[in-house]
Amino acid sequence: HAHIDNATVRKVHAAIAAGNTHAHIPAYETYAEYAAGGGYGTLADLRKDGDWEAVQEKVLASGLRGLGGAGFPSGKKWGFVRDNAGPRYLAVNGDEGEPGTFKDRYYLERVPHLFLEGMLIAAWAVEAERAYIYMRDEYPAVLHILASEIAALEDAGVVPAGYIELRRGAGAYICGEESAMIESIEGKRGMPRHRPPFVAQVGIFGRPTLVHNIETLHWIARICREGPEVLSTVEHNGRKGMRSYSVSGRVAKAGIYLLPAGSTITDIIAAAGGMAQGHKFKAYQPGGPSSGLLPASMNDIPLDFDTLQPHGSFIGSAAVVILSHKDRARDAALNMLRFFEDESCGQCTPCRVGCGKAVQLMQADSWDQGLLEELSAAMVDASICGLGQAAPNPIRLTMKHFADEI
Ligand code: SF4
Repeated sequence: HAHIDNATVRKVHAAIAAGNTHAHIPAYETYAEYAAGGGYGTLADLRKDGDWEAVQEKVLASGLRGLGGAGFPSGKKWGFVRDNAGPRYLAVNGDEGEPGTFKDRYYLERVPHLFLEGMLIAAWAVEAERAYIYMRDEYPAVLHILASEIAALEDAGVVPAGYIELRRGAGAYICGEESAMIESIEGKRGMPRHRPPFVAQVGIFGRPTLVHNIETLHWIARICREGPEVLSTVEHNGRKGMRSYSVSGRVAKAGIYLLPAGSTITDIIAAAGGMAQGHKFKAYQPGGPSSGLLPASMNDIPLDFDTLQPHGSFIGSAAVVILSHKDRARDAALNMLRFFEDESCGQCTPCRVGCGKAVQLMQADSWDQGLLEELSAAMVDASICGLGQAAPNPIRLTMKHFADEI
């Protein structure tokens, strides 16, 4: 649990901008400490005589799936990217803009080199000519840590100078969508691209590009060093592996909880020390606002990829927010739609106009459910990217489970 409030963040930002390296940076494992514990040994061995397909096998055997939200089997992407002639690039998605998600920051502020070594292993696997890290600018301490540690990697000769390029995001949620992120890296407005072609074929500057999330790469380093068993042997409620749940809202102790992938909301609340005093569990957001809200009665579903689809939701980046009897689901859903209205890139009409229209309709004392459903269907069918397609989830789930409020 990273105890950094906004005032501290602003202070750190100002201090870093002023070149003051005595800014408050959390204690983390430096290059020297990581290397002394055997860090970068795996990378060195692989670079000497490694077989990328053997590493891919290991990653697939672990069951690791993309932890940015999409959940695509991580090792599979490598083959798709390699199928296209070089030069190839690697892009790391560190935008972490999903409200309620802070797991990437948690790992980067503690063990940044697990991520960096994982990134260099993936770059090696696809023979990437350059690695871009697209980092959320709202994480000044992380930016400082990464800039310092990338310099340490260059000084130690682990990577040539300039091989890793650290790019700062500018606060747009949509730049967490991989093709919008690539547009932004290219210096353009961050707007999602139509697919196909996929970024594995046509990515940064038209070149095949491998895109991974920060936490995914963190686990790739651990799988390579500790074996696929680090994930594959954990089993709970019929699900394999582990998830870093970002837990906030009406719990006693908000924070990051690394739990078995099949954990239910009951397990997660228990891990977070139970409900906050005086609050009774009412509803939860299982994976970011795009996943909408589920009622407390649905407390026995393993929260993993695929398990929430039949319920009209999904786990995404596992950003869990707990609501209590003191909250109204309709207010939370309206808040989610306001967020989407604000963050829609404006490229396509169903999303740009649809989010705004939904906000208007949801402000009425009594919701026009027929019209909201019609609007939701149009947005799901006709929006270009996941933002507009998933934005109706909070509307539909609130109408389904919290009808008494609307
Ligand atoms: Fe942009 Fe929304 Fe269309 Fe996505 S769905 S491209 S965010 S306007």
